[in-house]
Amino acid sequence: MQPGQLIVITGPSGVGKGTLVRHLLTRFPNLYLSVSATTRPPRPGEIEGEDYYFLDRPSFEEKMAAGEFLESAEYAGNYYGTPQSAIAAQLATGQTVILEIELEGARQVCKSFPEARRIFILPPTFEELERRLRDRGKDAETAIARRLERAREELAASEEFPYQIVNDDLETALDAIEKIIFSR
Ligand code: ADP
Ligand code: 5GP
Repeated sequence: MQPGQLIVITGPSGVGKGTLVRHLLTRFPNLYLSVSATTRPPRPGEIEGEDYYFLDRPSFEEKMAAGEFLESAEYAGNYYGTPQSAIAAQLATGQTVILEIELEGARQVCKSFPEARRIFILPPTFEELERRLRDRGKDAETAIARRLERAREELAASEEFPYQIVNDDLETALDAIEKIIFSR
């Protein structure tokens, strides 16, 4: 059996990665979305094992040292990482796997999976990114400020990615991602 395709979706916080991925999974329920581990505390409504595996720092560091993550990064004061074993199992059965991760992690994946399709999601403007982060209403003001600061660095790296999609009109962006995922 042919191994499955690995799709990496990255871009600054608030650009709409999670929204795009949710819609993709509704359109194509067979896609497998990797569930990451994080040391960030759960937001209201987030579910353990569904949104993230929520870990304390010592547990995360233990797993990191044991090589359990395909990639990991520190982002806005918290660790995030992709559990290795679930991804390997899914790819081995020919499953298409989606990672929704930040820039440093996306760079690391490139090294272990050079054939991964790497997509950078851009906002229509920086002002619109800021508006989306604030309107989402899920982060404290200090967290929003950190995310915006990080966003400037991330946006400057968009050219490293073979596929760049502007998430202005949601449906248009979804169609573009769909083409990348399913092209041969
Ligand atoms: P990310 O996962 O990249 O941090 P989210 O998916 O949480 O971003 O989206 C951030 C906010 O932007 C949410 O409130 C979401 O509803 C909104 N959003 C996402 N895509 C669009 C779009 N194409 N147009 C307008 N608002 C959007
Ligand atoms: P949030 O705290 O908003 O859920 O996520 C913050 C950032 O971390 C987002 O850009 C998100 O894509 C990224 N992220 C989520 N999971 C992972 C992961 O496993 N690895 C890396 N490197 N980034 C992740």
